[in-house]
This record gives sequence, structure tokens and C-alpha cells, in this order.
Amino acid sequence: MHKKLFIPGPIEVHPDILKAMSQPMIGHRMPEYAELHGRVTSGLKKVLFTDNRVFLATSSAFGVMEGAIRNLVGTRCANFCNGAFSDKWHDVTLRCGKEADAIRFPWGEPVTPEVVERTLATGKYDSMTMIHNETSTGVMSPLADIAEVMRKFPDVLFIVDTVSSMSALKIPVDELGIDSCIFGVQKAFALPPGLAVFTASEKALQRAAGMAGRGYYFDFVEFAANDDKNNTPSTPCISLIYALDCQLQRMFAEGLENRWARHDDLACYVRSWLGDRGFASFPAAAYRSQTLTCSRNSRGIDLKSLKSNLGKAGFAFDDGYGKIKGETFRIAHMGDMTRADLDELFQAIVTILPELA
Ligand SMILES: *Cc1c(COP(=O)(O)O)cnc(C)c1O
Repeated sequence: MHKKLFIPGPIEVHPDILKAMSQPMIGHRMPEYAELHGRVTSGLKKVLFTDNRVFLATSSAFGVMEGAIRNLVGTRCANFCNGAFSDKWHDVTLRCGKEADAIRFPWGEPVTPEVVERTLATGKYDSMTMIHNETSTGVMSPLADIAEVMRKFPDVLFIVDTVSSMSALKIPVDELGIDSCIFGVQKAFALPPGLAVFTASEKALQRAAGMAGRGYYFDFVEFAANDDKNNTPSTPCISLIYALDCQLQRMFAEGLENRWARHDDLACYVRSWLGDRGFASFPAAAYRSQTLTCSRNSRGIDLKSLKSNLGKAGFAFDDGYGKIKGETFRIAHMGDMTRADLDELFQAIVTILPELA
């Protein structure tokens, strides 16, 4: 039996998208591919509000997160860490042999503009990484306020992971001055995993061009040269690009503003369902994610048993990530989800735990 996914990634994939993936194969050096590539990257530019280059990489998000480090970190990187994925990005930065510092916030708290400013004012850094929406803790950091601070540091490249937020709310990449915006498609985009999207500003491309040891597979300069021909350096996951093409058409049919409003509504819906039942939010109210809700286990329910019983009923449920497993649980409301999907989950929870009715 298929378990309907309510975990924060991968996300349930719409049948139209699965169907789009089963189209016959084309060669990536054939004109048909260039046409597909051009259409998809133009669509992405609209969703990302950017005129910068948009590249397609065949990898999970961490492939490009590592690539950005190898291409863009010169002297020293400030890795802002407020959860499992941002902690890991710091680890990846060190594993790439780069000089870097982790600037840590307690789990459940956002990256703050004050700390970013104080850190970068030391003059030690030529690059910074942060995660807009920390999926491990359900915290969304104040990106616009941080972007404002970044204007004071034009020599520091602004590298942002939007894996679990891009397209669920407006993230205008150029207006925010993001030099490289990175996301995988299996979360907020609700596609099967295996494709990552990233942008590069002119500043980022210039930095990359002079960087030693950037490798081949994620070489930004190779990506730019191939993008000139609507192509990729190596064979891309063409089936997933069909899926992305289909998803972009679906997004424009829904309307971006309607998509943002739907996510806002879903976030409020989940928060109030949980709040009405005495569950407290893990993040502070102002920093709750728009695409997943991370709740404290305030009612002391046996989350392991709930997860197992929901599994038997056909629902994949998340009982917390890393060091806050068991203490918290997460409900995803991203991608193509609707209130009706959440109602199915809530109904199943209440059947298992009637005290939550
Ligand atoms: C899931 C996730 C990642 C890791 O993505 P992979 O595609 O597994 O490499 C990175 N950042 C965030 C915010 C995520 O939610």
C-alpha cells in the first residue's frame, strides 16, 4: 500500500507529474532538449523573480550546496547554523577543505540580522551560507531583514538554501540580492527527488571563474557555458525535467499569488488544529515555517506508536528530526497539498487517538 506522504520531504507527487515523467526519452544534445531546457529555465526565472542564470543539476540539493562552497568560498565562509541541515552545510564546507566558522543559534531559533551583521563586520569572510527554512526545526528565518544587512557587505557572497520554501511564498532572488539560491525539487516543488536548481549572480560567476579546485560536476563556469546553448555540462535527468516543466505549467495555471495564499492558509490550518488540541509550536510564533509545522509533543503522546499506526492506515508521519526526535513532530504542508489532504491525516490521527477529537 502506498503511504501518503506528510513527512517534510519527499512530498506527495501529483499524478499528472508522474505521467509527464513517462514521456519518451530525447537526447540532451538534440534540439528538443534545448527547447525544453529553455522553457523550464525561463519558467523558473519567473518563479524566482530573477534575471540571473538559473541552472539545472542532476543531484540532490546537497550536491549543489557542496558545489556552491567549492565555487564561491575563497578566504573564509560564515555558515549560519540553526538546525540539522545548516549544521551539515558547515560540515560540508570543512570537508571541501575551506576555512569556515559555524555561527550557531539554538535549535528552534532563526538566523538573525543582528548576528549576521556582527559576524560579517569582522571582515573575516568573503561568503556566507544560510538556510531560509530549516526543515529540521520548522523555523523560517527573516530573509528580507538579513538581505538588508547583506547590502552593507557587497564583497560577501550571499548563498541561500530555499529547499523547503521556494515557490510556497514570494522569494524574489534579485531584489534580495542573493548570489546563489539553491533548492532540490522534492520538497516545496513536490517533484520526485534527483534534480536541484541553483542561481548564480554575475558576482558569483566572477568569483567562480577565479576559484581553484572547483571540480567538474558542479563547476559554475561549465554550467554557464552550457546554459548559453540551453544545455547542461553532463547528461541531465531528463524525466525529472519533464516533471519540472509540467509542475511549472501547473504553478502558472494556479497563479503564483494563489499558490502563496494556499500555503499561508494551510499553515494557519495546521497551526490552529494543533493549537486547539494543546500542542505548542516548537519555533517562536514569528518564525514558524510556512511549509511545515514543527510542534512540541505537549500532550506526551507516544509518537513512535502513532507513526506506526498511521503507517498501517496509509499515512507517512514524521516523529521529529535528529536530536529533537520524540520531543517534536512535523507535519508538511507544501507542494500541491490542500486542506482536504490534511483533513484525511487529521481524521486518521483522531481514529488512532480519540482523545484528540
Ligand atoms: C532536505 C533538505 C536538504 C537536503 O536535501 P537533499 O536533496 O537530501 O540533499 C537541504 N536543505 C534543506 C533545507 C532541506 O530541507
